[in-house]
Amino acid sequence: MSSSIKEFQSKEKPEGYYKKLVNGLSEVNKQLGAFLNINETIKDGFPFSVKDNLCVRDVETKAGSEILSGYIPPFNATCVERLSSSKFSFLGKTSMDEFGFGSFGLNTMCVAKNPFNTAYVAGGSSSGAAVATSILKYHVALAESTGGSISNPAAFCGVVGFTPTYGAISRYGLVDYANSLDKIGIMARSSEDIRTVFDIVKGPDSYDSTCVGIKFTNVNNKKIFLIKQLLDATDEKVRSEFDKLVSKIREMGYSVEEKSLEFIEKAIPAYYIISMAEASTNLAKYNGYKYGFKNENFSEEYNRFFTESRSKFGVEAKRRVVLGTFVRSASVKEKYYRKALKVRSLLIREIGKLLKNGFILTPTMPITTPKIEKAVSLTPVEAYRMDILTIPPSICGFPHVSFPYSYPNGMPLGAQIISDHFNDYALLDFVKSWETSFRYKFKYNIGDIR
Ligand code: GLN
Repeated sequence: MSSSIKEFQSKEKPEGYYKKLVNGLSEVNKQLGAFLNINETIKDGFPFSVKDNLCVRDVETKAGSEILSGYIPPFNATCVERLSSSKFSFLGKTSMDEFGFGSFGLNTMCVAKNPFNTAYVAGGSSSGAAVATSILKYHVALAESTGGSISNPAAFCGVVGFTPTYGAISRYGLVDYANSLDKIGIMARSSEDIRTVFDIVKGPDSYDSTCVGIKFTNVNNKKIFLIKQLLDATDEKVRSEFDKLVSKIREMGYSVEEKSLEFIEKAIPAYYIISMAEASTNLAKYNGYKYGFKNENFSEEYNRFFTESRSKFGVEAKRRVVLGTFVRSASVKEKYYRKALKVRSLLIREIGKLLKNGFILTPTMPITTPKIEKAVSLTPVEAYRMDILTIPPSICGFPHVSFPYSYPNGMPLGAQIISDHFNDYALLDFVKSWETSFRYKFKYNIGDIR
């Protein structure tokens, strides 16, 4: 699949193109709920959308949370600034689970629906970004992942989702979920478009000291590892499709080997402990003084003032504040928080060792796309377990890409390819070679130029 950015730039736009784009998108958005707002003043450039947890100057930015309703940042996130000054134009903010807390895009007021069938979830937490990418012919999405929020919705919506090495793209202007895990990434309809955007937005930023200028490598040993424990956690339907993908990858000249890993099953508990601990400190600032819903009556008693403001958090956010505060409290932090940090180090070492010699391939999600009613009925722990395949690379900061590879019963399935830190370009090359023999399918092509 070729670059839609280059194609778009080479095409003459018909009179009124952007107006038609905005109108067409607004119409479809009524059913799909991908966009929270649409920039009606767009008049040139290649359209990009921005997940609602990234600041866009003068545009309401609320990270999917009611508590931030009305917050209008006076500045652009670095990635938004860099794209805006490179012939790309802001098209709108996309919906997401509140603060990134979720896997199905349901923990928020504006629920995005799957463009292949609206009875199904779009995935999460970057639900709107994936739907936007799936319905717009010429568009790229800026999204963010803490524990799989790019791979997951990209897989369910049939688009390419790239989560780079931790620290490759500046987090300045991001409404933090968990600072040691948050990664800004990109969704598009092809690996080439992702590469173009990555080249523009990556690289050091004086506003983010964790955004480093390390040199990227580009190593491909033509070797793929499958992880036994992750395959065992995958349901049968997904597994049989994935096996067919593995055969095709062998035909592409890769040798494939299954490995067993000792610590991999500890990734989910470690991730949820670390991410909730960090989230609970990040959410402390939404208390109605500087940030968060403001009860203007400052003379009120402190506890009442504070409680009223924080009542605007959704159920999942409240759960994470409580659990996150608990795991880092003095009496138990050795037992939970510090142990989770040790597990993370062990995982980086264990998985990293394999990645020195090849890529790791997994299905992106262990299940086929669930119906909304099914996802709503999951308990929190059942929902967290759905992240079993996306959390290992996420907790270690390894770059990964989810790409579509099959459409059983008309719904897309995604696979996830993972590589060593800063070997991001080798992943994009891998997906590019996949795209030479596999055509992605989309139900909508809003903004097409004939
Ligand atoms: N589902 C995971 C969580 O709820 C990951 C979300 C994310 O990457 N933002 O934490």
